[in-house]
Amino acid sequence: MLQKVMHKEDLFQIAEKMQFGELHFKTDAKSGLRAIIAIHNTNLGPALGGCRCVAYDSTEAAIYDALRLAQGMSYKAAISGIKHGGGKSVLIKPEHIADRAAYFEAFGAFVDTLGGRYITAVDSGTSVSDMDLIARKTRHVVSTSNNAGGKGDPSPYTSHGVLRGIQAGVKFSKGTDDLKGVHVAIQGGGNVGYHLAKELRQLGARLTICDNKPETVARFAKEFGAASVDKEKIFDVDCDVFAPCARGGVLTHEVIGRLKAGIIAGGANNQLAEPAIGEAIQKRGIIYAPDYVINAGGLIQVSLDDEQLIMEKVNGIYDSLLNIFKQSRDYNQPSNVVADRIAREIIDHAR
Ligand code: NAD
Repeated sequence: MLQKVMHKEDLFQIAEKMQFGELHFKTDAKSGLRAIIAIHNTNLGPALGGCRCVAYDSTEAAIYDALRLAQGMSYKAAISGIKHGGGKSVLIKPEHIADRAAYFEAFGAFVDTLGGRYITAVDSGTSVSDMDLIARKTRHVVSTSNNAGGKGDPSPYTSHGVLRGIQAGVKFSKGTDDLKGVHVAIQGGGNVGYHLAKELRQLGARLTICDNKPETVARFAKEFGAASVDKEKIFDVDCDVFAPCARGGVLTHEVIGRLKAGIIAGGANNQLAEPAIGEAIQKRGIIYAPDYVINAGGLIQVSLDDEQLIMEKVNGIYDSLLNIFKQSRDYNQPSNVVADRIAREIIDHAR
C-alpha cells in the first residue's frame, strides 16, 4: 500500500496534499543512524511527536510512515486542545545497534539542529532511557526518565484515555457506560494494552488478548483472567469492543467484514489501512473511535505540567468522542472524516 502510493505520486505531491510542512533527513555512518523528521504543521506551537525506531521494508515506507504519523500528531494536538503542532521522527532501525548511546546521541544532535521547531518523545521501539541519551545533545525532548528529571512513560495516560473512549462507545451504543460484563478483545498487550487491560478488569470487563509474545498472553491470563486467541483470529472474536493496541494499518476491508464487535476503540496509531475504510466501518454500523482522538492521553501528559489539568483533558476524551459519534450519525459522515474536519478547522483558525 505504502509503496503503491509513493510510486503513483512524487514525494512533494504527497507532502503537499497532506499540507506539509518540512521533511528532514540525517545519516550518520559511524552510529548507523538513518533518521527522518517530519514536521507537519506549527500553527499551534512547536511540533511534538514521538521517535519511532523500527525496521522498514524500504526507505519509501519509512518516509510515508513519518508523514502520516506527523499529520496525525497535528490533528491529535489540535483536537485535544494542546498548543503544539505535529511532528514525528522515524529511525530506520539497523539490524544491530552497536552503540545505543552513540546512536541516540547522534539523533539528539540532529533534533537540536531544528532549534526547537520539533520536540521528540518516546514511541515504538524507543524507551525513556533512549530519551535520556537524546537529552545529552538537546533539550527538545520530553518523556525522559524520572531520574533525568522527566515524567517517565506516558503509556498509562494513553491507556486511560482509551478506556474513556471505550466507555464513550459503550455509552453511545447502549446508553450506559458501565463496563461490567462488556467483552473487549485487545490486539497487543504491550505498554498501552497492559494498562488498559488492568483498568478494564477493575471495572468488570471481560477480556480476550492476542500478542506475538506467549509470555505476554500468559501474563494477561494470570493477572486479568483473560482468554487468548491466535493473533490471526482476534478479528473473529465474538465481543462488544475490538481494541487495536499493537500497530497501524490493521483495519482493512477484509478485517471490517470479519469483525463481530459493534465498537472499534483502541490505542494504536494509524489504524485505518486507508482513510476510505472509515466509510466501510460506518456502512457496517460499527462505532469507530478515531485513533488520534482516543490515544491522545500520552501527548496530553507530556505536553502539560499540571496533573489535575492532565487528568481533566484525558478524561475529556470521553466527551470529544461522544461529540464525534453524534456528528457522525447526524451528518451521516464516517467518524474519521468528522474528526479530521474538526482538527483541520482548529489548525486553520490558528494560522
Ligand atoms: P508496545 O511495543 O509496548 O506494544 C505493542 C504490543 O503489540 C507488543 O506486545 C507486541 O508483541 C504486540 N504485537 C505486535 N504486532 C502484533 C500483532 N500483529 N498481533 C498481536 N500483537 C502484536 O507498544 P505500545 O506503546 O503499547 O503502543 C501500541 C500502539 O499504540 C502503537 O501503535 C503506538 O504507536 C500506539 N500509541 C502508543 C502510545 C503510548 O503512550 N505508548 C501513545 C499513542 C499511540
